[in-house]
Amino acid sequence: MQCRGEVVKLDRGFPLVCTEDNKLIRCKHATALVKGKEFRAVIGDKLLLDLPENHDTAIIEDILPRSTELVRKDPTERALPQVLAANFSRVMVTQPLAELNERRLERELVLAHETKAPVTVVLTKADLAESEEQVEKVRQKVNALVGQGVQTLVISSEDPESIEALRELIPEGETVVLIGKSGVGKSSLVNLLVGKEVQATGAVRESDGRGRHTTVSREMISIPGGGRVVDMPGVRGLGLWDADAGIETAFADIEELAEQCKFRDCRHENEPGCAVRDAVEQGILSKERWQSYCALKNEVHQIQERREQARWQKGEKSRGYGRRSKQPGKKK
Ligand code: GDP
Ligand code: ZN
Repeated sequence: MQCRGEVVKLDRGFPLVCTEDNKLIRCKHATALVKGKEFRAVIGDKLLLDLPENHDTAIIEDILPRSTELVRKDPTERALPQVLAANFSRVMVTQPLAELNERRLERELVLAHETKAPVTVVLTKADLAESEEQVEKVRQKVNALVGQGVQTLVISSEDPESIEALRELIPEGETVVLIGKSGVGKSSLVNLLVGKEVQATGAVRESDGRGRHTTVSREMISIPGGGRVVDMPGVRGLGLWDADAGIETAFADIEELAEQCKFRDCRHENEPGCAVRDAVEQGILSKERWQSYCALKNEVHQIQERREQARWQKGEKSRGYGRRSKQPGKKK
């Protein structure tokens, strides 16, 4: 029997799928679907299934086109992307308010913007801030960094009301993906949204009381009266994949300055007439942000080159050429 379903959990690599009639079933990919490809169903994927009678495993016949994708570079492969979630409606980037890491936030914002879904920044553990002034200072710093179009929310598990504004961003029918380093309080946030302990939170360490991460599964959780959240635990390295568009959005301030550079292909490093470097020298743009931008750009370009190289070598093999004869063409 054929039916449709949606991946709600990845259970040791096997998609756990919720079918149209609300049954949970473990699934395997049809051999023809994945043969020779890296294509696999991820959390949020909508599927076409074949349900053999009297079997407890269904076969994934097709993965339907995705409206959004969260993609990073596969941490174990040199030139492969890894999709972490699909078909969500918003990405929430979480960072601890009192231990904000701006450089990491920039990277997370690039990945989040690259999905094309709306992005919200959530500053957690506001109760650990030294003072109200610190809360305001960090909030303003983050607002300046994220630019227009990204809202910044401040929450604390000590203050359940603080998550109400966030709850409004997860209406019924929508799915939100949470990204952020382990220990920032994502599981605690999910528990607050659900109203009970659905995700184990990190055990509190005696020394600093901030705890460690414990969750390993990746699953979609329904919020009573609202939509769904996907916590992304285990997202260790957040290596960029294709991220030119994400960088453009996350660094709109620099992209705007770059329009005034003398050379159209200015890399904002040593070129004369560089408006970006001028802005750094005049103190309009922070040096760290400029360096962060250049580093992320370089990371993406390196990946693009590796891909070109891999593609070229593959093509060469399939054509039966023995040796490299010329360099692969650079992608513009
Ligand atoms: P996750 O790894 O992002 O899922 O983080 P957890 O939700 O497991 O939280 C890590 C640790 O921080 C746990 O010990 C939590 O109890 C603690 N924690 C989470 N949110 C808050 C908060 O708002 N304030 C304080 N003081 N601690 C928090
Ligand atoms: Zn420049």
